[in-house]
Amino acid sequence: MPAPPIIAIDGPAASGKTSVGCALAARLGCRFVDTGLMYRAVTALALERGVRLDDDAALTCLAEGERIEPGERVLANGADVTDGLWSADVERSVSRVSAVSGVRRALVAQQRLLAEQGVVMVGRDIGSVVLPGAAKVYLDASVGERARRRAAETGAPDEERVRAELERRDRLDSERGDSPLRVPDGAVVVDTDGLDVDGVVDAVLEALGR
Ligand code: C5P
Repeated sequence: MPAPPIIAIDGPAASGKTSVGCALAARLGCRFVDTGLMYRAVTALALERGVRLDDDAALTCLAEGERIEPGERVLANGADVTDGLWSADVERSVSRVSAVSGVRRALVAQQRLLAEQGVVMVGRDIGSVVLPGAAKVYLDASVGERARRRAAETGAPDEERVRAELERRDRLDSERGDSPLRVPDGAVVVDTDGLDVDGVVDAVLEALGR
């Protein structure tokens, strides 16, 4: 039997990782894991429980105590936390929470377990840290295109504001000390400007020789 596919997709916010990753996993018949949902879930729980965002020890403790199951619905220790994951508060705070090394350690351990039977996993550090042995893809797109897509997806009326928030998050995610967003060594870079989801999936499969 051929080895199950292990594919890492990284890239900036709204570069199409989720829709492309999901479609690619469906084509390959393997599991899809969006790790952004896991950082969002920990952030939503921290906000809900009043954990201070400058308290690294408390955030680490929170992440260590939660088993996050990312999927169409996202569960944290069995409780459905999906509905709050795209709130403005979570959007604003998630890059701060995900910069905490203890939070990352706890979630990376869970992500490696989720990858065991074959996976398409998307995030910021999947090829560089979580699954360094994976086939690696880096999806990119211009910030204007990403803001347009995200505004259309969420129905946000002010595209300029969406763009500013994406740029702020990308800067924080790229400049943090632990596992910053970058193109992992050996990754295939795919520019998704002007391509639809199927077009990107085709380009990725071709680039990976599958
Ligand atoms: O992918 P998404 O935009 O939902 O991710 C939300 C946030 O979670 C990112 O801005 C980043 O701060 C964090 N994240 C991360 N590492 C990952 C996935 C997401 O730090 N592997």
